[in-house]
Amino acid sequence: MKKEPIIPESKDSAFREQVLKTPVGEKILTCMQCGICSGSCPVSQEMDYSPRQLVRMVQLGLKKEVLSSNTIWICTTCFSCSVRCPRGIHPTELMETLKPIAIAEGITNRNVKFDTVFSDVIKTNGRASEFLLISKYSMTEPGMIKQLPFGLSMMAKRKLPLSVDRMENTKELGTIFKLGEKSREKK
Ligand code: SF4
Ligand code: SF4
Repeated sequence: MKKEPIIPESKDSAFREQVLKTPVGEKILTCMQCGICSGSCPVSQEMDYSPRQLVRMVQLGLKKEVLSSNTIWICTTCFSCSVRCPRGIHPTELMETLKPIAIAEGITNRNVKFDTVFSDVIKTNGRASEFLLISKYSMTEPGMIKQLPFGLSMMAKRKLPLSVDRMENTKELGTIFKLGEKSREKK
């Protein structure tokens, strides 16, 4: 993906302070821009901004650019960046910290929609179901209609099962999600 230069619209010191006050924010200012995180990231090519750039953007308080970027949603939480950062910064945790802030700010890009649908499917069934995921996501993203022929060809080849494999006890799962939501509210 072509990397665009960062042209800040404005710096937001309140946003900067908000992130710096979180557990992951403590070390953000120690980032020396070595780029080890970006070099370790398996999906940085798909990101609007690499993990290294995102950390710098948070340091500068570039709220709009940070929260509207696809970077925080593309992250696969593989932790490669976090285990290799020489300054003990956790870019993985930073991504997870930024997600609820983006949602609270009303950011509704396609990555947010996908994340929400994915969470709903897991919350309801305890397991991912490709069929439910695709059908529910298609309802929120009209552009997905273009993928219909591909989906049908997968179904014809039995690569897209219609059956939903549900977990036996989804009640416990609901409790875990509630705990997660409470923990997010505290941040
Ligand atoms: S690896 Fe750590 S110190 Fe290096 S750029 Fe990434 S966050 Fe900054
Ligand atoms: S945790 Fe996310 S940002 Fe870090 S290396 Fe993995 S995918 Fe990239």
